[in-house]
Amino acid sequence: MKPPPFDYIAATSVEDAVALLTDERDSRILAGGQSLLPILNLRLGSPELLIDIGRIDELGTIELSDHHLQIGAAVTQQSVLDDAGVGRRWPLLTDALRHIGHAQIRNRGTVCGSLAHNDPQAELPAVAMALGAEVVARSANGSRRVAADELFTGPFSTSLAPDELLVSVEFPAQPSGWAFQEFAVRPGDFALAGVACAFDPIHSAARVVMFGSSGCPMQATAVEEALLAGAGAGDLEQAAAATVESLDATGDIHASAASRRTLMTKLLIEAASQAHQRARTETDR
Ligand SMILES: Cc1cc2nc3c(=O)[nH]c(=O)nc-3n(C[C@H](O)[C@H](O)[C@H](O)COP(=O)(O)OP(=O)(O)OC[C@H]3O[C@@H](n4cnc5c(N)ncnc54)[C@H](O)[C@@H]3O)c2cc1C
Repeated sequence: MKPPPFDYIAATSVEDAVALLTDERDSRILAGGQSLLPILNLRLGSPELLIDIGRIDELGTIELSDHHLQIGAAVTQQSVLDDAGVGRRWPLLTDALRHIGHAQIRNRGTVCGSLAHNDPQAELPAVAMALGAEVVARSANGSRRVAADELFTGPFSTSLAPDELLVSVEFPAQPSGWAFQEFAVRPGDFALAGVACAFDPIHSAARVVMFGSSGCPMQATAVEEALLAGAGAGDLEQAAAATVESLDATGDIHASAASRRTLMTKLLIEAASQAHQRARTETDR
């Protein structure tokens, strides 16, 4: 199908993009277009104005130090995946990126676009929550920082206001214990269930985030507590089963809610055990 008619403007700067967002027409940011263009083609949305941010140089940078990674809104998923420094220090992010669609999608799709879109089956919102990332949002009224925990409000919805541009996402250092697990029917398909896990035994911190099986990424707090308590396999299994029991899992043509719960239980146990093992290997070095 063809998209409904729309106006198109390539913004030249962040200020320009933010000013265009105050336009009285129903406007949307166009980043990689890998979610927005299918939405238009399927006539699931009909914005009047698309504001392309892909040519704004200041949004196209990856900045990293040992403790901090900042990714601008025009940076593609593949550029982050190809960055050796990111791969060394944020392997959880890199591993998750490998699961997103195929190279053709990642070559255009942006990291920040995925966060702004918040597809329940997307990998990156869960990774952002697991790693305690923050985004910088900018509107004509100024800038604000939003923690990933506060960003994702429901399926395909975030706490960003319609006139806010997500300028960048910032990740703190990744802890030594980490794991990324997902199940998809075929490589490159959206996940039916997935888990992103970050475990820092030195600072007694654990984040285990589920995605793909319900409307929004969700913390598995019982599994986090079991990890922090140094619980054995049996306790982890119990914590995973208790978590999944209260999960409002989606059932659709791809998998029933019961299948998704079963998958999620296994992935939670697998991810928590792997993160625990990685943290131990690192401590033993
Ligand atoms: C065949 C196919 C397979 C895919 N498989 C996967 C997959 O396995 N996992 C996965 O996670 N994704 C998958 N995707 C989606 C892909 O990752 C998208 O790139 C991503 O969801 C959105 O990023 P984008 O840059 O393309 O955003 P766009 O499509 O340009 O925008 C998406 C939405 O976010 C808004 N937006 C984008 N950037 C900003 C910003 N900076 N500030 C404010 N709002 C913004 C737009 O207005 C729009 O509403 C797939 C897509 C396709 C076509």
